Amino acid sequence: MIELDGSFGEGGGQILRTALSLSLCTGQPFVIDRIRAGRQKPGLLRQHLTAVQAAQAIGTADTEGAALGSQRLLFRPGAVRGGDYRFAIGTAGSCTLVLQTVLPALLCADAPSTVTVSGGTHNPSAPPADFLQHAFLPLLARMGVEASLELLAHGFYPAGGGEVRLCVTPTPALRALHLCERGGAGETRAESWISGVPGHVAERELATVRQRLGLNEALCTVRTPERLQGPGNVLLVFVPSETVCEVFAGFGEHGVSAERVAHGVCREVNAYLASGAAVGEHLADQLLLPMALAGGGSFTTPVVSSHCRTNMAVIERFLPVRFEVADEGGRHRVGVQV
Ligand code: AMP
Repeated sequence: MIELDGSFGEGGGQILRTALSLSLCTGQPFVIDRIRAGRQKPGLLRQHLTAVQAAQAIGTADTEGAALGSQRLLFRPGAVRGGDYRFAIGTAGSCTLVLQTVLPALLCADAPSTVTVSGGTHNPSAPPADFLQHAFLPLLARMGVEASLELLAHGFYPAGGGEVRLCVTPTPALRALHLCERGGAGETRAESWISGVPGHVAERELATVRQRLGLNEALCTVRTPERLQGPGNVLLVFVPSETVCEVFAGFGEHGVSAERVAHGVCREVNAYLASGAAVGEHLADQLLLPMALAGGGSFTTPVVSSHCRTNMAVIERFLPVRFEVADEGGRHRVGVQV
């Protein structure tokens, strides 16, 4: 039984999600204490509980402590079964984080799967659905993964009401991916999505993006979801290059000006571009698990976040791999090997 301390390092939900994913992939049971002890509201929130329930259903697992607010969970996985699954978070908790939890297991399932999750699709502190579609899944495709994500309805924090569907074909053996150089730059573009929010908010965000990133009008679009849920606003900047497409997101908030939201996103984009690294902070912590399952891989990133270091430590508890981090002055090179 692998014993994990949920307060370790970043002390967030990622420790639990990585443990669930790798427990299903390796068949090793685990127990975790002090779940999300580093967060303002510790324990299992709806989103984390849904991730546990999804992992339990897909992996025919036994659990103890799978309840709202619980700070301890025992998880004993069984056989991973492909199929047609549907989960409802019931709040604006992040659907994409639930999908990322079960995706690795579905790669080793006995049949293709479709997983539909309702809840939040565009939440602060989680990957927006567009990030999975344009940044994360295309890199997994290069590792041999056949998976696609459909955004059926936008769900903004705090209203929720969104829905996403993941289709996955089993791919038991992943290929190593080396992502150290970005290659030639593509055309950076921006989208401001608004729902139940005045149009000037999106216009002001995009005006700031044009000024800070030097984009012309044609590359900056105001978008409105087909099914209005809200109120909500997300500013997305897509930065494609030869080897990777990075997606940066900022979320509109009461009391925070549209200009400030856009400046925050532009600061991240400019720091990424100036670093010469191939992947940004968030892709970095999310690529560790698939690369470890592949038994090899590397990337460069501007920063090695606390999420990233914590995730490396949890992955090393489940898989016989070692991560290495080298400072290359302005960027870091992260590698994993068996
Ligand atoms: P945790 O805080 O432990 O629940 O983990 C949050 C996860 O969401 C990490 O994998 C972060 O990299 C990821 N994440 C947070 N914000 C973003 C963002 N703007 N774009 C992509 N991923 C994000």
